[in-house]
Amino acid sequence: MPSRVPALVLKPGREKSLRQRHPWIFSGAIERVVGKPAPGSTVDVRGHDQQWLGYAAYSPASQIRARVWTFDAAEAIDAEWFAQRIARAVAARSSLLDKRHNACRLIHAEADGLPGVIADRYDSTVVLQLSSAGAERWRDAIVDALAAHAMCVFERSDAEVRTLEGLAPRVGVARGTLPRVTVIMEDGLDYRVDVVGGQKTGFYLDQRDNRALVRRHAANARVLNAFCYSGGFTLSALAGGADHVLSIDSSGDALALARENLARNSALDASRAEWRESDVFAELRKLRDASREFDVIVLDPPKFAPTAAHAARAARAYKDINLWALKLLAPGGLLATFSCSGGVSAELFQKIVAGAARDARVDASIVHRMTAGADHPVALNFPEGDYLKGLLLRNH
Ligand code: SAH
Repeated sequence: MPSRVPALVLKPGREKSLRQRHPWIFSGAIERVVGKPAPGSTVDVRGHDQQWLGYAAYSPASQIRARVWTFDAAEAIDAEWFAQRIARAVAARSSLLDKRHNACRLIHAEADGLPGVIADRYDSTVVLQLSSAGAERWRDAIVDALAAHAMCVFERSDAEVRTLEGLAPRVGVARGTLPRVTVIMEDGLDYRVDVVGGQKTGFYLDQRDNRALVRRHAANARVLNAFCYSGGFTLSALAGGADHVLSIDSSGDALALARENLARNSALDASRAEWRESDVFAELRKLRDASREFDVIVLDPPKFAPTAAHAARAARAYKDINLWALKLLAPGGLLATFSCSGGVSAELFQKIVAGAARDARVDASIVHRMTAGADHPVALNFPEGDYLKGLLLRNH
């Protein structure tokens, strides 16, 4: 049994989740801290009975007080360990990159055994996001390891969650030179990715399979893409033969990028696209007033409920947009509706949507359940990672 200071000793019974290999240790589970671990440093985690449970990264500022790097006492947490975990994660994505795709998530935090670490490949650039004290502590090792797989490592450690860890934002080139423009290809379509100022790390890679699904159902359709960001579902629908696509987003920057992306793909007919810079909640009502009708509707809103504490308010927002979208759906039409809120389970989301259908007096069936793609795996011991859920509904 390895024994060294510093260490976290858990309260009686609180070792249970660690034995099930759940990587988070909440502040309330800790009986005492042995020694004076610096933020991000590696600590032993021990049960009340002194049994060794894992090596974890200490986050004194956060309610998630530590995140386990490994449950294997034989492993040493050092630069080589990070290089190995990163190489394993990168290798697992090799089948997702091919002639028609040069972008995917390379590291998906807990699901790749690297809590606090996200890395996305956009062509030859890798965008890195560090969000925990432990990930921050090992920044140099992580950047070095990623540099072996990229021409440029660009850091976008500016997610809100960093503040919970007491970490300041950091944005900039970590290795190499950032190309003047970053263009990715998804399913043969080109998109410019704004890695410096775009949302998330620049692109919603998690929706790749779902964009392909919408594309397959878009032939001759009148399509509404609500919350369109840089136009992913818009371009996919046009590539699938849509007759017309109305795209809505409240961000002028997102719409400018979306229009640019459409222009980049000369095979697509830009005259079939209509854009509105507007609030979706208000716009859906206006479309109804104008008696508009759609054959395919995509609703991909931002995270309304980051945690379960926001679930009630989020439920109202989801219900509202789904209700109005269902009222705009033509008979036989399809609604692709999503929630990326960690605080709303798949079960709850389905209930909310069912309530919206009832109120809209629409009979609909689920024809597909959607999740994030294979580059965003969900670890069985960390079901919290299953954040994206979607339903493809058919209006009878
Ligand atoms: N479907 C997109 C990702 C959507 S992200 C894709 O495949 O790339 C959510 C988007 O919703 C963001 O672009 C954000 O600007 C926009 N947004 C947030 N609140 C909004 C609102 N109330 N009305 C319209 N757009 C909104």
